[in-house]
Amino acid sequence: MAGQLISGKEIAQGIREEVRERVTDLRGSTGVVPGLATVLVGEDPASQTYVGMKNRAAEEAGILSRQITLPVETSEDELLGWIDGLNSDPEIHGILVQLPLPDGIREERVLEAVDPRKDVDGFHPVNVGRLAAGVKEAFPPCTPKGVMEMLLRSGHDPAGKHAVILGRSNIVGRPMASLLLGRGPGGNATVTVAHSRTQDLPAVARLADILIVAIGRPEFVTRDMVRPGAVVIDVGVNRVEAPDTEKGYRLVGDVAFDEVREVAGAITPVPGGVGPMTIATLLSNTLKSAEAWAERDG
Ligand code: NAP
Repeated sequence: MAGQLISGKEIAQGIREEVRERVTDLRGSTGVVPGLATVLVGEDPASQTYVGMKNRAAEEAGILSRQITLPVETSEDELLGWIDGLNSDPEIHGILVQLPLPDGIREERVLEAVDPRKDVDGFHPVNVGRLAAGVKEAFPPCTPKGVMEMLLRSGHDPAGKHAVILGRSNIVGRPMASLLLGRGPGGNATVTVAHSRTQDLPAVARLADILIVAIGRPEFVTRDMVRPGAVVIDVGVNRVEAPDTEKGYRLVGDVAFDEVREVAGAITPVPGGVGPMTIATLLSNTLKSAEAWAERDG
């Protein structure tokens, strides 16, 4: 029997509605309107699409959205000047610098320049450290936090389960492990993190009650790598050629969806799985930041 389909799209829609209601409440009770600034340097088409989606979602939730688009030849110092301005702008509670940045701009320097209290992407070392130390006030990075919410809201509480994460990036794998190891709701899992140097990856993957895949390899995970009944979360987004389609490509995940669905207890699709959850989490982090600013100022 095919596994349950976990629709990130539907779960994310629910979160976006909750955020919208809380934004209205915050405005009513304090006059504060949450503000999100997105900073895009250059003209990478995928980045333009992502930033556009984030801004539209923010506006729909009643969040003030400001997009700053800078030319590809922008210098690191100029970019740092913009970040400085946003750090001290009282209308802005969240700053997102779209990655990757053009060559010649040091990503670490830019991410470290964002005020950690406005770092709604959760990439500032202060927030990375807080998350690793299990401090609640941290802004968790949007994709792994979205995965955690998705598990909880689809009835797959990771507590006590063995979660295996494929991939150890700073954006997904590592923070995912910290979240699942946490003591709060959505945590308390036993966690294994695997990567390109892991020996016998299929055997490690088969240990998972919950298998989270973030490696960036199209349809890498096949049915023989999945324990029957496991919950499979596919973070991957890969373009593969599809000459018969209008765009000439289609999006696939890191999991061979059709065959893995046959053995999995539950599985997320691509698209419509983790992607929408990432955006919903960005909105809730921005709201969380605005609430904290309102409390500090009030
Ligand atoms: P990344 O920085 O490239 O990291 C990939 C990780 O996968 C690395 O740890 C790498 O191991 C591991 N890996 C690569 N090939 C492997 C293999 N054959 N066997 C085992 N491990 C392997 O990627 P990322 O930024 O985490 O992104 C991963 C995927 O998620 C991409 O498809 C990306 O587009 C997608 N993504 C989606 C969202 C969303 O919102 N849906 C958000 C972020 C990322 P080593 O460390 O040993 O090199």
